[in-house]
Amino acid sequence: MNDQTPSRTLPAGFGRAFVLTLREALVGSADELGDLDRRAGDGDFGTNVRTAMKHLDRNLEADEPSRYREWLTALYMAWLGVGGTSGPLFGMFFRDLAKAGEEAGTAAPTIAQFTDALAAGQATVQRYGEAKVGDKTMIDSLDPAVTALRAALEADAETTAVEALFAAEDAAVAGATATAQTIARRGRASYVGDASQGVIDPGSAAMALVISSARAGADGSGVANIGWIA
Ligand code: ADP
Ligand code: MG
Repeated sequence: MNDQTPSRTLPAGFGRAFVLTLREALVGSADELGDLDRRAGDGDFGTNVRTAMKHLDRNLEADEPSRYREWLTALYMAWLGVGGTSGPLFGMFFRDLAKAGEEAGTAAPTIAQFTDALAAGQATVQRYGEAKVGDKTMIDSLDPAVTALRAALEADAETTAVEALFAAEDAAVAGATATAQTIARRGRASYVGDASQGVIDPGSAAMALVISSARAGADGSGVANIGWIA
């Protein structure tokens, strides 16, 4: 994959745009995410999201990041300080995503580096959480997003980073909405059994917001797609 062409590099300032867009999206949908977890889990996910974003604000105030890796570090540290199952899982996921910036120096990572980091993050979440696709977790939006991203980049050398991220976003949102048809087999939502049917998994929705925010950070719009969460 030739990821050094200009259309396949992520823009300067990607880390900042990605993290701040995600912050806005998560804060803006914390009520809805909490509500989903109340209907299909134990109800703490909205609080966990808010706590993570409070930690993020504190980290950003203490030391305004400049590079991609520093923005993602502020984000992963914020999540590692949160309870529930999602805190450590998102924390470890974003720590892997931060590593995409290791070789990038002051530049943003290439889309290939970002894609590899997403895949590494997925592997870490699955190693610790042991969730498979279909278990009604964050993996149900992350797995199709990584697959779509890779497919878009490999199918056509002309596909840009932004186009590939749009494909990943579509796949993530479709994966998250499809969790409404499944019954939870992981996390506290698994304790409520059939009651989780008909309800979107909040962690899969939050993960779709991550992908949507990456797209919005890359295309310069700075606005994630959150209207579908309810
Ligand atoms: P808890 O299940 O401990 O109450 P949270 O409410 O913080 O955790 O987060 C719930 C979300 O975490 C779920 O919506 C699901 O997407 C995700 N999750 C739970 N368990 C796992 C797991 N084993 N692997 C991956 N994701 C998980
Ligand atoms: Mg919960």
